[in-house]
Amino acid sequence: MPQLATDLTSIIHTPLEKIPPSGIRAFAQKVEDIPDLIKLTLGEPDLNTPEHVKKAAAQSILDNDSHYSAQKGTPRLRKAISNFLQRKQDLTYDPDSEIVVTVGATEAIAATMLALFQPGDEIIVPTPSYALYFPLIQYTKARLVAINTAGTNFVLTPEDLEKTLDEHPHAKAILLNYPTNPTGRECPSSVLEQIAPIIKEHHLYVISDEIYSELTYNFNHVSIAHYLPDRTLLINGLSKSHAMTGYRLGYVTGPADLISLIAKMHAFLVTAPSNPAQAAAAEALENGDQDPAEARLIYQKRRDYIVGELNNMGLETHASEGAFYVFAKIPASYGKDDEAFALDLAHKAKVGGTPGNAFGPGGEGYIRFSYAASDENLHTAMSRIQKFLAEKGEN
Ligand code: PLP
Repeated sequence: MPQLATDLTSIIHTPLEKIPPSGIRAFAQKVEDIPDLIKLTLGEPDLNTPEHVKKAAAQSILDNDSHYSAQKGTPRLRKAISNFLQRKQDLTYDPDSEIVVTVGATEAIAATMLALFQPGDEIIVPTPSYALYFPLIQYTKARLVAINTAGTNFVLTPEDLEKTLDEHPHAKAILLNYPTNPTGRECPSSVLEQIAPIIKEHHLYVISDEIYSELTYNFNHVSIAHYLPDRTLLINGLSKSHAMTGYRLGYVTGPADLISLIAKMHAFLVTAPSNPAQAAAAEALENGDQDPAEARLIYQKRRDYIVGELNNMGLETHASEGAFYVFAKIPASYGKDDEAFALDLAHKAKVGGTPGNAFGPGGEGYIRFSYAASDENLHTAMSRIQKFLAEKGEN
């Protein structure tokens, strides 16, 4: 096993002013003042939190549930997470030693990286991928080793992983995100089965961000933890599955030795989320399996609509089996300049999409549209894009 960052004082982080803002945020700022812009930039459900979940949060307040929670999360919620992962994914985690409840998946990602990465560590990330990972890796002074998956339909292949590990034999960890933000791609279990032994042979840790695991369309999500329970840190949360972004509820599960380090980092950073948020999350996981099922039907209909429309306009899209994003190839006349296309689209067509380059190598030449938006906004956005492309002679 690679060495862990047990001596936290030895980490000298990159000064924050040297870390550029995420490409997503930088672009959002450039277009935020455009009047009448339809923002298909946001990665957040437009649906409401289910009623029974809201009631649980309210009840927690009325019950004077106002005292400090256990740092790793309430026992009830850790048990609910353990039962949920057992029921849904056949994964077994001890609520006392193998689960930490965090302030959103964001904190789980940050605490995990800060606890495990040391300066100089090489971290493999199949890209394009969620933009938050890059500044965090930079902050810990670890080194990003990107595997560009644009040529392999945006899914990591065993061959590319082998090749990368030949070149970086001392890599410490691999960071997976299936279903993937920004492409919506899932990793078939047949591929997970092939990459798992390679990961094991090279003693890599796996950080697996599965925040979209409940939002897959006719695709059975399987976690890499199923194949590599002893080295996987599985990150998930309630933001996307139960439309609870503002509750700030996530978690990380994994082997007890790694979880105890992450729990330590978590205690430095924030300790547990608020009690009402934890009560709501426990209710969602105990009694809310049907909630994401209903959301899936809505998102799938929107996905089919937006993919059909974009394809009809001549914008190529790749299969997307999960999350709520479509990654579309920009028109040939823009070359790889996704930023120029996204800016034109925002200023001239009044439709906001996120330029693909914000998601790392392989994203250039693409634009990400979120379909976590109302049907009305999606319809208007599609007809605006069509008009814009027609005026440019692109379709
Ligand atoms: N991981 C991925 C891949 C995401 O897309 C997002 C949000 O967009 C997050 C994590 C953050 O989730 P949370 O709201 O639980 O912090």
